[in-house]
Amino acid sequence: AFIGVHSDFSTLSSQFRFKFISSGDHKTSNEHENTQVDRNEIHPVISWEKIKEKLTFTGTSELSAKQIVKKNYIQLGEIMGKPIDLPKVDNLVGPPENAEKYERANGTLMILTRNRDAGAVVYTVKQIEEHFNKKFHYPYVFLNEEKFTERFKSRIKNYVSGECYFEQVAPEDWVQPEFIDKNKQNVGMLKLARENVAYARKLSYHNMCRYYSRGFYNHPRMKQFRYYWRFEPGTDYFCDIDYDVFKFMQDSDKTYGFTISIYDIRQSLRNIWPDTLEFVEKHPEYVNPNGAMSWLTNSLQKPENAEETDGYSTCHFWSNFEIADMNFFRSKPYSEWVEYLDKTGGFYYERWGDAPVHTIGLSLFADRKRIHWFRDIGYKHVPYTNCPNSEKCSRCTPGKFTYMNLWSENCLTNWWNLEMDDEQKSLY
Ligand code: GDP
Ligand code: MN
Repeated sequence: AFIGVHSDFSTLSSQFRFKFISSGDHKTSNEHENTQVDRNEIHPVISWEKIKEKLTFTGTSELSAKQIVKKNYIQLGEIMGKPIDLPKVDNLVGPPENAEKYERANGTLMILTRNRDAGAVVYTVKQIEEHFNKKFHYPYVFLNEEKFTERFKSRIKNYVSGECYFEQVAPEDWVQPEFIDKNKQNVGMLKLARENVAYARKLSYHNMCRYYSRGFYNHPRMKQFRYYWRFEPGTDYFCDIDYDVFKFMQDSDKTYGFTISIYDIRQSLRNIWPDTLEFVEKHPEYVNPNGAMSWLTNSLQKPENAEETDGYSTCHFWSNFEIADMNFFRSKPYSEWVEYLDKTGGFYYERWGDAPVHTIGLSLFADRKRIHWFRDIGYKHVPYTNCPNSEKCSRCTPGKFTYMNLWSENCLTNWWNLEMDDEQKSLY
């Protein structure tokens, strides 16, 4: 099956018919971008049978899961141990001499947060400013389903060097939709709570995951932007970022960037995979032949996860930090699929996180070449860290992923071994 080989677009194009999906549905404030066709959406079409074959193969090995954990962790140490510097691309844009006059990309920092978390937001904003934004002055969008207080706003403004937008999320985008069966929701939540699934019965958490899966990129304020950098209260950034990451995304044609990838709680995702396969069977034309199918399905390190989910590894890009192109989320394949998921009620009957939703969407509908591991961005969200071996970093131990006994949770070697090509591996 050709989707397994790292074949490029030009060789495929001669063999398969093209499918063009209009990208005219989504608008940005930038006229130039309005007319630009998302290259993600032009690709050869493969049949449902071929896709199914790829999406049901979970890998084979003579080693036990335990041995694989060990082997992968040793490899991770080797990868992380390599000293790195800036990404080796020709068109990196460094800090401008005059930030006031700098022409930024169409990007914004973005956070969903509550008034009471102002202190933790400031803690993180200070680090983002110190390492990155004092050089580039990108704007910030603060989102909240409640109104931000004057106190919250004035506290934040003390620390940021870019324009700030404080925005409320419309109730219809936040609270669970009418069609959710409350009784079924209660039964589902209780079951997951009994299985110790984190946040199982916290309705606001379900709303949050749904909003980050299908809402934020259509917020009226967010619509004026193409790229966003999501951050969370209380997270750490350890390294100087001496180039414009938004321009890096744009100029290197990247759709999505992440730092950490891990397995998810398997009980939280029981139906997302069968539901997704149903959608894909109806729309095989949306699937990108250069998608990251193996990473979605490879279950060798954690076979019990793919078993519980009927085939999804639960590997995901940890979405609490991500830099991405919202044109992808606004495109037909992702948005139609996520609406399909939403209608199943799984955000409430189960506890699907936005991270696996982003991940499955990207791995099916985007070219894996456009997914970038920001190995140079030192980052921590408890309990996991991405700490590069670089002189630009301080306050973290290079390569140290976690201080707890959670090494088997790391999924990065799967991404590295199954989906990254040589060019990506040698980018730093
Ligand atoms: P975890 O990282 O999965 O443990 O989840 P968090 O509690 O960190 O929530 C993820 C993000 O959503 C953070 O940026 C939170 O500030 C935000 N968030 C979670 N729940 C709510 C909520 O009910 N309202 C608002 N405004 N933000 C929320
Ligand atoms: Mn968090």
